[in-house]
Amino acid sequence: LMQLSVPLNFIGFIYREIRQGLTDIEQMFDLLDVKQEVLDRPDAKPLAVGAGKVEFRDVHFAYDPARPILKGVSFDVPAGKTVAIVGPSGAGKSTISRLLFRFYDIQQGAILIDGQDIRDVTQESLRAAIGMVPQDTVLFNDTIAYNIRYGRTDASDEEVFKAAELAQIGPFIEHLPDGYKAMVGERGLKLSGGEKQRVAIARTILKAPPILMLDEATSALDTHTEQEIQAALDLVSRGRTTIVIAHRLSTVITADEIIVLKGGQIAERGTHLSLLRKDGLYASMWARQREATEAEERLRIARETD
Ligand code: ATP
Repeated sequence: LMQLSVPLNFIGFIYREIRQGLTDIEQMFDLLDVKQEVLDRPDAKPLAVGAGKVEFRDVHFAYDPARPILKGVSFDVPAGKTVAIVGPSGAGKSTISRLLFRFYDIQQGAILIDGQDIRDVTQESLRAAIGMVPQDTVLFNDTIAYNIRYGRTDASDEEVFKAAELAQIGPFIEHLPDGYKAMVGERGLKLSGGEKQRVAIARTILKAPPILMLDEATSALDTHTEQEIQAALDLVSRGRTTIVIAHRLSTVITADEIIVLKGGQIAERGTHLSLLRKDGLYASMWARQREATEAEERLRIARETD
C-alpha cells in the first residue's frame, strides 16, 4: 500500500499545481481587463517630440482610491538632463515610470512632454518616444540577434553588432558557440540579470528614443558587472532626457537632480553632494547602503579565499 500511496500523493500534488496555474491565468486576465481603462481621446494627435522635456505637475495618483500613492509630486527633467528618483521601497518610484507611459491616468495634476499633456496624444506615439530599460527584460525564444533587433526591426546586422558593443555585451556574445545566432529564452540559453539588462540597453541604443526611463535592477550585481552596466547606461543616456529609478545609489552620483520620494511625496531634492551635506534621509540611505555593499564585498572576498 505504501508503494501505491507515494504516486497517488504525487498525482495530488500535480493536480494542485495545475489548479493553481489556472487560477493564476484567470487573475492575469482580470488584470489585463483593468488595463483597458486608458484609451486614446477621439481627437488624440501624435506627440510632437522636440528636445524631450518632461514635467510632472502636482501629480496625484492612486491605484485604489482608498490608498493614495502619489500626493502632489512636481518635478522637471530639462531636455537632455538626468533626474534620479530614489526612496524607500513602496515610496512610488516605479509608479512614476508607469504613469509616464500612461499605463494609468492620474487623478489630479498633469504630466507633460515638450508642453503636451500625455492624455492628449496617442499612446502609440507616446510609447515610441520613450525607451525603457526595465528591471527584468523579457526575452523571446529566438536568437540573441533577434532579441537585440527588437529595438528597431529594420536595423542592419552591423547596427545590431554596434549596439551590442556599446551595451558592453558584444564580447560575451562573440564567445558563445553560435555567436549572434545563439538561441536564448526559456528553451535556449539563460541569461543572467546583468546580461539581460545589457540586451535591453542594446535594444534601446537601436531604438534611439529622445526620452529614456531606466528602472534599475534591485538585485545585487557584482562590482565588475555593475561598472560595465553603468558605463553602458552612461553612454546611452548621454544627451537624452533620462529618468532613473535607482535602487543602488551608486548610479545616481552624476544625476543633475536627485529626487527623494517618501510616502508619495518629495522629501528632499538636490545633487548628490548637496543632499549629503543636508544630512537628511538621502544621507542616511547612502550610509546604510555603503555599509551593506562593504559587507557584501567582504563576504565575497572571504568566499573566494576559502
Ligand atoms: P520598490 O523600491 O520596492 O520597487 P517603489 O517605490 O518602486 O518600490 P511602487 O512600485 O511605485 O514602489 O509602488 C508604490 C505602492 O503602490 C506600493 O505600496 C505598492 O504596493 C502599490 N502598488 C504598486 N502597483 C500596484 C498595483 N498595480 N495595484 C495596486 N497597488 C499597487
